[in-house]
Amino acid sequence: MKTLVLGGGIVGITTAYWLATDGHEVTVVEADDGVGREATASNAGIIAPGHSSAWASPRAPAMLVRSLFGAETAIRVRLRPDLRLYSWGWKFLRECTAERARENTLVKLRLCQYSQALMTDLVRSTGIEYHAVTQGALYIYRDPAELEAGAKKMALLSSHGQTQDLLDADEVARFDPVFEPVKHKIAGAVRDLTDSSGDAQRFTEALARICRERLGVVLRLKTRVGALRAEGERITGVLTDQGLLSADAYVLALGVQSPLVARTVGVKLAIYPAKGYSSTFPLTNGLAPTVPGVDEQWLVAWSRLGDRLRLTSTAEFAGYDWSWTPRDFNNILRFARDVFPEAADYARGEYHACLRPMTPDGRPILGRGRHRNLFLNVGHGHMGWTMAFGTAKIVADLMAGRKPDHDPGGFAPRPQAGGL
Ligand SMILES: Cc1cc2nc3c(=O)[nH]c(=O)nc-3n(C[C@H](O)[C@H](O)[C@H](O)COP(=O)(O)OP(=O)(O)OC[C@H]3O[C@@H](n4cnc5c(N)ncnc54)[C@H](O)[C@@H]3O)c2cc1C
Repeated sequence: MKTLVLGGGIVGITTAYWLATDGHEVTVVEADDGVGREATASNAGIIAPGHSSAWASPRAPAMLVRSLFGAETAIRVRLRPDLRLYSWGWKFLRECTAERARENTLVKLRLCQYSQALMTDLVRSTGIEYHAVTQGALYIYRDPAELEAGAKKMALLSSHGQTQDLLDADEVARFDPVFEPVKHKIAGAVRDLTDSSGDAQRFTEALARICRERLGVVLRLKTRVGALRAEGERITGVLTDQGLLSADAYVLALGVQSPLVARTVGVKLAIYPAKGYSSTFPLTNGLAPTVPGVDEQWLVAWSRLGDRLRLTSTAEFAGYDWSWTPRDFNNILRFARDVFPEAADYARGEYHACLRPMTPDGRPILGRGRHRNLFLNVGHGHMGWTMAFGTAKIVADLMAGRKPDHDPGGFAPRPQAGGL
């Protein structure tokens, strides 16, 4: 079957891989002049089933309100005349009950675990090198009361298959010596022994090479999708700046741009951008983190990507806005100089703003919507690097008419997230 995969991020490329393995004749359509250059290139790099707690939780509404008054909260909103923000926000708030948060967390957790297992097999069979660090991750707390709240989240994840434990500050410093000089500043951490990290862009590029050289996938770069064309229940083509492209089947994997293209054929996807800030610094010979992690109070995530240190922060609901100012990185730099002062050359940073494609319930949207030959692989939010392998395999299974190994029920197009 001739299949067009729209989007060459980690989601599009993993999808192309499994479809080509299944015998599809695949072309990836990508606007940039390389693959994995958008959210995939800037993420924190953590493969984090152990951090799959839902963002929509009973604590989120108060956080959003505080953000309106200028507080540096984990999730922030900038009010603007944007109907999509309010419609998305309303759906998000409805997911903020304890019951919904628990269910969404568990659905995401199982998908992340499934995806991580597939990724491990894929790395074993292809030998892809992506600066992997596979010794666990640390989720750090400064305040004893917050550590207690973290322990509760941990209890849910560890009773569903994650190997996690609670460490005091001395134990944290023994696990990762970078914390020895600063251990008086932390209350403790949740340690996840199976979370890992790696360079998602490097991985995407390597997998794209395998797709092209071994599986005959065509990478059509510098080709921007403007709209879909439909007749009745079928997609008949994709209008791009290089002309009309057509195929038997289409997979939408345009990350944060997916809802804009989907609506050209009347498909509404409740995906809204959650802006994050991403910075990368060259490592020095000083004491540097050996495992990835997140500071749960300062809301900064870190990982080593080869000889570089990646630090990311913030989730801001501010529309399609990729702009940034040096001020947006104050939080990250304050954290880095406080906790990892010798690790990297902070005068030589690379800075980006990037957008996470968030659904209100935090689950991706997978499978067929109202068009028989259009398949969705969208809405991976803050966990696309962790989930992509699983969602791509589920979509490939659905397209082959096979029963997916992982239950796709929690990700079907649905009223909370659109795609119907
Ligand atoms: C600050 C930050 C930190 C993160 N940290 C983590 C983490 O630690 N762990 C984790 O699992 N996840 C993390 N994520 C989330 C993860 O990066 C995303 O969920 C994931 O990259 C989404 O992949 P994607 O392929 O759907 O989107 P993208 O990577 O954005 O890819 C979409 C592709 O589509 C192309 N495209 C868009 N529009 C068009 C068009 N009209 N025509 C043609 N091509 C187009 C783009 O150029 C791009 O290549 C983080 C995200 C951010 C922003």
